[in-house]
Amino acid sequence: VISLNDFKSEPEELIVAQVKAAERVIRSGRYVLGQELLAFENAFGSWLHAPHVAGVGNGTDAIEIGLRAMGIGMGDEVITTSMTAFATVLAITRAGATPVLADILPNGLLDMKSVERCITRKTKAVLLVHLYGHISLMDEWQAFCSGHGILLLEDCAQAHGAKWGGKSAGLFGAFGAFSFYPTKNLGARGDGGAIVTADPELDRKARSLRNYGQRDRYVQEFLGLNSRLDEIQAAILSERMPWIDRFVARRRQIASVYNTRLSNPRVGIAIPQFDENHAYHLYVVNCTRREELSHFLQDHGIQSLIHYPIPIHHQEPTKNIRKDPLGLPIAEHHAATCLSIPCGPQMSDEDVGHVVDVINDYYEAS
Ligand SMILES: *Cc1c(COP(=O)(O)O)cnc(C)c1O
Repeated sequence: VISLNDFKSEPEELIVAQVKAAERVIRSGRYVLGQELLAFENAFGSWLHAPHVAGVGNGTDAIEIGLRAMGIGMGDEVITTSMTAFATVLAITRAGATPVLADILPNGLLDMKSVERCITRKTKAVLLVHLYGHISLMDEWQAFCSGHGILLLEDCAQAHGAKWGGKSAGLFGAFGAFSFYPTKNLGARGDGGAIVTADPELDRKARSLRNYGQRDRYVQEFLGLNSRLDEIQAAILSERMPWIDRFVARRRQIASVYNTRLSNPRVGIAIPQFDENHAYHLYVVNCTRREELSHFLQDHGIQSLIHYPIPIHHQEPTKNIRKDPLGLPIAEHHAATCLSIPCGPQMSDEDVGHVVDVINDYYEAS
């Protein structure tokens, strides 16, 4: 089966390097907040050209800690998208702030007009989600946010390697929050995350918040979290850094085959303005008869998944969140029609060709 995540066929050289990294840490005697974390923070920062990187326990905490470090909490509203991982909205509520949901464009990314309708006096920030690895219109978003006197924030959990005007996702707002969950474009062999910022004070607070809110040893300045990127995961991530560009390039190469060769009128695709804008964490098509297409793919040995079948505003714990007064029709349509097909870096050219042929052969059964 051609699957979305095929970790077992990663290069043997990379697997061996990660095993050695884990062993190095185990033999070092230092397991939390040590040299491996510093080394990874530096490597990830120089890869992004980010002035400050603070490793944390996961991507959800990266958003929460970033918000709390910015002083965003009780009584503050943060506008984001209903078409995202639940973690995005969970992190806003965990920070004590109030999420507000705006609609998306047909490409899955936040719609600025809808965001504008959601703004109130309480609005403190827009949290953009670079969904599927796609970053877009960042100059417009920066102008929009500064024009409204609110902060621009980025959920980059899916966007390692995505660029806008040559600049990496995560560098456009007050902070960028990354996840290193195993399936992400840069994934640990467990949980991990990072907050990326150009603001030294935000970075300092994030480092305090991730470690109980401790400023110096045993001196508390906040009621923080325990959310540290441990030494084993940091060491493994450092070993994966030399591969990230190759893996993202391969994802783009696969996507460009799909973009040029998928020609089934029943299957919609969204093409980014420039190749660099999309890091293809996921390659997502839209199809009104999604279940049939998914079964057809399965019958031909191709896995597919749905990201995401239920938008945030239809989830039980978040169904009463305030949203765009005009509703979220594009998000609803997208949730009902989106289907993620394999585009992982370990796919062979034959795999990619097979996916193209099967999708182009698909027709609605009725
Ligand atoms: C994965 C993901 C998160 C959460 O990251 P974790 O490391 O699992 O906490 C947040 N937002 C988006 C868009 C994600 O895809």
